[in-house]
Amino acid sequence: MKFAEIHIATAAKTDSAFQASLLLSLRKIKWVGARLIFIGCTAFGVITGVGLYLMAPFFSYWFFGDLRFWKYAGMGPKLIGYAYTMAYRYLKGEFSPQVSLTAPPMSKPDLRLVQINSAWKNGDSCADCGKCCTKIDCPLHEKTNGHCMGYDAFYWRYFNCGRYPTNQKEIDWYACPKWIMKP
Ligand code: SF4
Ligand code: SF4
Repeated sequence: MKFAEIHIATAAKTDSAFQASLLLSLRKIKWVGARLIFIGCTAFGVITGVGLYLMAPFFSYWFFGDLRFWKYAGMGPKLIGYAYTMAYRYLKGEFSPQVSLTAPPMSKPDLRLVQINSAWKNGDSCADCGKCCTKIDCPLHEKTNGHCMGYDAFYWRYFNCGRYPTNQKEIDWYACPKWIMKP
């Protein structure tokens, strides 16, 4: 069994490679569907404008993990600008490798690939660094306290943030002081 299948087989408490493979395929379909719905709705929303209002609870849930969209109403213009900028950067290939539609959502990087730099003194925490969020001028980055307003929400887990970093190029691009690649 491959790593992903072993992981799923363990979670589902099955020894059957076939069942694990089937479960993984079903999950991949779910992940692809969730991403396509998000991308489609975001494109519809930012192109039409009115779509953002019609789907406000969904956007609130996707970005902030909270259906109470009225709490984030003031962030609409910033998020629209951010969506256009990110779409342009994705198309330019600035984020490479791009997150595959079939990739599992993640809330931490793949620790088979990366480790915390021994020179980093804050353990798991990013402390008050915020270099990566500042570099892309992310509107979810609270400048006053450095917190991420979308931490562990759908967008965070299904796209780049929850799985960062995945390679040396990313670490260099953000000048991240915390992560290094495993030898
Ligand atoms: S650049 Fe690295 S240390 Fe700084 S906030 Fe981002 S992940 Fe954390
Ligand atoms: S971690 Fe949060 S604030 Fe930073 S780039 Fe990702 S979504 Fe934006």
